[in-house]
Amino acid sequence: MPYERDIITKLHAYVPGEQPTSTEVVKLNTNENPYPPPQAVMDAVHAIDGESLRRYPSPTAQPFRQAAAEAHRLSPEQVIATNGGDELLRMLITVYCEPGAAGRAGEAERSEVARGGIGVAEPSYSLYPVLAAIHDTSVTRVPLGDRFALSEDIADAWNSAGCRLGFVVNPHAPSGRWETPELLGRIADRFDGVLVIDEAYVDFAKNDSLSLVRQGEAARDNVVVLRTLSKGYSLAGMRFGYGLAGAGIIAALDKVRDSYNTDAVSQRAAVAAIQSREVAADSWQKVIAERNRLIDELSQRGLSVLPSASNFLLASLPSEGEPDSVGPLPQAAAVYQSLKQRLVFVRYFDQDRLRDSLRITVGTPAQNDRLLEALDEIAATTPQA
Ligand SMILES: *Cc1c(COP(=O)(O)O)cnc(C)c1O
Repeated sequence: MPYERDIITKLHAYVPGEQPTSTEVVKLNTNENPYPPPQAVMDAVHAIDGESLRRYPSPTAQPFRQAAAEAHRLSPEQVIATNGGDELLRMLITVYCEPGAAGRAGEAERSEVARGGIGVAEPSYSLYPVLAAIHDTSVTRVPLGDRFALSEDIADAWNSAGCRLGFVVNPHAPSGRWETPELLGRIADRFDGVLVIDEAYVDFAKNDSLSLVRQGEAARDNVVVLRTLSKGYSLAGMRFGYGLAGAGIIAALDKVRDSYNTDAVSQRAAVAAIQSREVAADSWQKVIAERNRLIDELSQRGLSVLPSASNFLLASLPSEGEPDSVGPLPQAAAVYQSLKQRLVFVRYFDQDRLRDSLRITVGTPAQNDRLLEALDEIAATTPQA
């Protein structure tokens, strides 16, 4: 491809979890909500007429901005609607990061040209560095602490590298760990840039960080909160996310939107979804109950599972030969493969600190039982070390 940018030739594109077509697969690999979307959403989709498809939609998804503002006690000027949360991430990098800042390989972190890039915590959502690479901006990676704890010091590391944007996922992916809004507020205060709090999974947590963007004492003018309807509202197939921040940040983001970045069908469905919070919350409660059961069941089978405020678990397997390994389960990669053969899909990351673990989406009780049965079968067919 002689005409494409060098950076695109070299790019390692984002690798999503598999989306099998077979309905027999127990799909616990991409953190979808196992329950259907609220009925009001389906009614809104069915009520779409030809006329609303003939015309362009509201460019800013104004009815959604209003509904989201009401739901979150913000003003509509503090809301931007996007084609999935992922589009918001791309828009943020376009607004805040200097292209051409990636510099030559290896020198990026140290040299002046690295300034203006993104800061991330490692490990986290692997799309952030991919989007930065496409924009040709630098990535400063700061390792998380023990059990994936976030520390205030991350802001200093990002500052020394001249980062303009810092990304944290809360609850954290892939561990499910929860950090308090107080800690995130202190990071925002120390960071000389815009802090993005990716709350893709916040619906399964007890609290959120909206106090950092809501008018009041805790409000920060350098915080953006990302939300999506993909997880909590069971609408991953629809592609609708949004950003919440001070009106100044939202106005800047609005300049780099595609002219009609969200479509008429999803705008209607999204309004119905955000107004059906109570209905969706029933599914969150069911997922939380199963999450807790699954932690118990997996622990009994010798896996160590971190506490999770999300709809997935990070479960590490005892490595071979480890003296305190309870069960006879083989290493994570092998278990991942064996589960797949039994049509149970989970996620495996061949990455530092994650190689001994599986990330398991919490499914329905029946799906989770299938997972546990498959694990028992695998353990029974593995020779005792
Ligand atoms: C799912 C997810 C998103 C957004 O996903 P969309 O489907 O594009 O809305 C953002 N961040 C993280 C960490 C996610 O897991």
